[in-house]
Amino acid sequence: MRPYLLFFSIFTITLSSCGQNSAPSGVGYNYKLSDKQWEDKLTADQFQVLRRRGTERAFTGKYWDNKKQGTYKCAGCNHKLFLSETKFKSGTGWPSFYNVIENGIALGVDNNIGYTRNEVHCANCGGHLGHVFEDGPKSTGLRYCINSVSLNFDEE
Ligand SMILES: [Zn+2]
Repeated sequence: MRPYLLFFSIFTITLSSCGQNSAPSGVGYNYKLSDKQWEDKLTADQFQVLRRRGTERAFTGKYWDNKKQGTYKCAGCNHKLFLSETKFKSGTGWPSFYNVIENGIALGVDNNIGYTRNEVHCANCGGHLGHVFEDGPKSTGLRYCINSVSLNFDEE
């Protein structure tokens, strides 16, 4: 188990109460590749964010202002993550969602920048997607702040 896969029970409770499944037990992921295989599969920017937990610059990604209807998937493994109907305008310059597709994501703790944030991973491959904050709108009160480069978009 990776050390950052410690799950916040508060988020487990929050997500459960929304009818969403919480993070998996943290024992590995279904979709696994070596670092070399990931480097071959992904662009340099995708690798930096998905596999090295980087963050793209705000207002530079493909999807922060995307208003089309469709499904957002993991750029690493094509796992379904977010629906366009849960996307909202956050003003942050990153695609923002207030809910996730069931079994879409896993949560971890990111201490990289000196304080704890709730890191959002793809539940299928463990790829880093972004972070979740408790200042979102509507039913959940959550704001999933996601890097465009971590996402593929299937327009309906
Ligand atoms: Zn994935």
